[in-house]
Amino acid sequence: PYQGPPMSELLRIRKAHVSPALFTLYSSPLLLHAGHRQYLFDHQGRRYLDLFAGIVTTGLGHCHPKVIEAATHQMKTLWHTSNVYFNPTIHQYSQALVDTLPGNLKNVYLVNSGSEANDLALLMARLHTGRFDVVSLRNGYHGASPYTMGLTGSSKWKYQLPNGFGIHHVTNPDPYRGLWGGYRDSPVQSVRAGEGKVLDDGVTCTSSSKYLVQLQELLDYSVPQGKPAAFFAESIQGVGATVQYPLGYLKKAFELIRDRGGLCVSDEVQTGFGRTGEHFWGFEGHGVVPDIVTMAKGIGNGYPLAAVVTTPEIASTLSKALHFNTYGGNALGSAVGLAVLKTMLEENVQKRSHEVGTKFLLELGKLRDEFGSVGDVRGKGLMIGMELVENQSTHEPMNPKRFMEILEHCRDMGLLLGKGGFHGNSFRIKPPMCITEDDVKFAVAVLRVALTADKQRQQQQ
Ligand code: PMP
Repeated sequence: PYQGPPMSELLRIRKAHVSPALFTLYSSPLLLHAGHRQYLFDHQGRRYLDLFAGIVTTGLGHCHPKVIEAATHQMKTLWHTSNVYFNPTIHQYSQALVDTLPGNLKNVYLVNSGSEANDLALLMARLHTGRFDVVSLRNGYHGASPYTMGLTGSSKWKYQLPNGFGIHHVTNPDPYRGLWGGYRDSPVQSVRAGEGKVLDDGVTCTSSSKYLVQLQELLDYSVPQGKPAAFFAESIQGVGATVQYPLGYLKKAFELIRDRGGLCVSDEVQTGFGRTGEHFWGFEGHGVVPDIVTMAKGIGNGYPLAAVVTTPEIASTLSKALHFNTYGGNALGSAVGLAVLKTMLEENVQKRSHEVGTKFLLELGKLRDEFGSVGDVRGKGLMIGMELVENQSTHEPMNPKRFMEILEHCRDMGLLLGKGGFHGNSFRIKPPMCITEDDVKFAVAVLRVALTADKQRQQQQ
């Protein structure tokens, strides 16, 4: 049972002393105090099915016993020393991590957050190419540090200071909301509930070439000599509401960048570690091998851990001056990372993500076919997005107040969902990969009740 201070006391402290930048999702804050695999428990002992997995951090589920065991063992042995000495875990972990990666991705830098990983990737790309300008996608999210705030392609996360110097954002190849997506071209529907199919790549949009012209023009017009240092992209946009790209886009974009001598960076912070089901790494679904991969979130199952992996050639640029990160590669973090990775492979979470995720997508596709308020259902494996709208044919985003009523109603029924997208009108469904088919049935039933109640409220107006 919860034995902490009462909510009133926490609210007082929060108001007086805790960072005012922190925002709460629900109008009445949810006080969580325990987690067990796919479930979270509030201070009154109510259980919730967690479809947001601590912002996509826990792939294995909260408090996985094998991770606890490894962390406890390491905590009792040695937490930290400088990496100027040897500790075994950083070596064992680096080996295990590169064993999951293709090509010449052989050098691991351990850091502590996704923003830090992308900061480092940006630094390496600039140093290695001797160029400054980089390209990322509008609506992408790569972090909130001064460097990565620039890479992030959404004004919602930007402050009025000179971030993004030398960074160019290209038109987002968004099959649902983009210029050449479903509603201006042909309707795009990758989750075909009636046919029982989730199409490969999740995307049937064939507008790649139009979006690639945008990239080409951006390089020609905005980047000095048309030669970028790098191109950054998530394999599926996460914070941006699970946006997949039209078929073939990423592969061709990589080719375009490489033709001009730039490096390709895959931000796998959300899509890595089996999240997309068919592959262990999201980029594998696009048939590409990046030059630099950044990863965080699922890598530590909730423990603050992140990494950059690159080729020995690119890595060598960072040995020309001193480079150091106090906590990067500490014994405890490496032991946790190793236990998480081993357990993910042992329990084959990737297969589960594919199987349960596909069923989930198809059930959500039925909701889209049933309710005019569901505009789009998309994703791969357990990386799922569900976009709510005022009108299915115009794609007008659902009014935020109406959206929040549905989100809060789901919480009242014991279901936690993430919220995302530029318009804040999408559910982000990225649960711990241990969820079962019964959990899926429960989630879909709750959503059906909430969407029905919303429909009735609309009819009464
Ligand atoms: N990249 C992606 C794709 C992310 O989703 C996030 C976090 N939402 C980050 C980078 C930044 O990670 P962090 O919050 O750990 O700095």
